[in-house]
Amino acid sequence: MPLPFAEPYKTKMVEPIRRTTRQEREKLIASAGYNLFNLKSEDVFIDLLTDSGTGAMSSAQWAEIMLGDESYAGASSYYKLKNTIEELLGMPYFLPTHQGRAAENVLFSALMGMEAPDFVVPGNSHFDTTKGHIEFRKAKALDCTIDEAFDTSSQHPFKGNLDLNKLEEVFKKHPKENIPLCLITVTCNSSGGQPVSLENIRAVSAMCKKYGIRLFFDAARFAENAYFIKAREPGYADKSIKQIVREMFDLVDGCTMSAKKDGIVNIGGFIAFRDKELFERSCTFNIVFEGYITYGGMAGRDLGALSVGLREATEFDYLESRIRQVRLLGEKLMSCRIPIQEPVGGHAVFVDAKKFLPNVPKEQYVAQTLGVELYKEGGIRGVEIGTLLADRDPQTRENRYPALELLRLAIPRRVYSDNQMLYVVECLKNVYDRRDQIKKGYAIVHEAPIMRHFTVELRPV
Ligand SMILES: *Cc1c(COP(=O)(O)O)cnc(C)c1O
Repeated sequence: MPLPFAEPYKTKMVEPIRRTTRQEREKLIASAGYNLFNLKSEDVFIDLLTDSGTGAMSSAQWAEIMLGDESYAGASSYYKLKNTIEELLGMPYFLPTHQGRAAENVLFSALMGMEAPDFVVPGNSHFDTTKGHIEFRKAKALDCTIDEAFDTSSQHPFKGNLDLNKLEEVFKKHPKENIPLCLITVTCNSSGGQPVSLENIRAVSAMCKKYGIRLFFDAARFAENAYFIKAREPGYADKSIKQIVREMFDLVDGCTMSAKKDGIVNIGGFIAFRDKELFERSCTFNIVFEGYITYGGMAGRDLGALSVGLREATEFDYLESRIRQVRLLGEKLMSCRIPIQEPVGGHAVFVDAKKFLPNVPKEQYVAQTLGVELYKEGGIRGVEIGTLLADRDPQTRENRYPALELLRLAIPRRVYSDNQMLYVVECLKNVYDRRDQIKKGYAIVHEAPIMRHFTVELRPV
């Protein structure tokens, strides 16, 4: 008989969180302009805003914080991280950066310069900041994700996969010189934390080789992706996560990394390279934008904590408990008939707000309405992935209504207990039970010209 499941860690330190009354929460969210970003974290009971930088470090990581070498150049903490990256990812060169978007900025500067209007970067639903850094250079991010990714009820096991026909079309249409790289995001954040199969990575890699195009990972959740390969892809059940990770990275030329995700640190990032020449070209930009090449905007102690975090994040037991908890939340919600995006991805559960609140008009921000209701119900903070985030058309200034209105509940790593997840389920169920009475949403009082979702102020209709 296999042993039953239990978390592969115990708690050494606790951080109290504060419960508020419904009356208090109604006042707090009103004075936050009905924008969950404006809440003080101390007024949130369960914070599922993001899984970025919110993980709990282990005792071994905290020990590295004390051992941090803060030398400007050649710190021992830098070499610890360098060794880990070389061992785990097989990449001989790397540059630390202060976070993932900084890695994108440095790499894209080396590959495209500051203005590259004819360039295109194909990939699978590029992350916002990645797209931002591409579009800032007047280049285009071309989405080659498989069609199944956009169907929330499709049970495809690897909804992050690239469509090889779409990719080959891009390679045929654009001259090689104008495609600085192809980018695979693992797991694919924008399509709901959905994984990419090794079969697909292998095929994309072969196609990139055929056309002479560089291939990089946006590797923020590479370990969670490896777990899904082990769990779902034929032939990988008996391989270790570290073997699978190595097999994935052996197929690419490098990666950008937001260490705030699968590095399980609160801040940090890096670029890894196979090619010495590209590494050397990137060094100049790293020094200008981030810091000297052996610290790149990170404190020595943080480099050390990251080197341990990467090793822990690629342990099977940790990943199983992490992905299992995300699935637990998703399955419990489904058993209450609450509509969510399926299958559940690696780091978050996405509640389908349009199906949840059919009576709220789309002009009144359906997913935001659900987010506010959930906060008022139980002090839980999710994030709107809907019309507020989609923003206005730059030409017409009309709202862009996306196909889906989602409330994302992202789960921090090693932070919350299963009981706290069940609390979230109960609260959401309470809102669901009174969904017929929720007929009105919100109107905008004030918004910024771009990225409005962070600072928007709303009022109830
Ligand atoms: C978070 C994230 C980034 C950006 O990283 P930051 O550390 O937030 O700057 C890039 N790509 C993906 C897939 C991410 O999830």
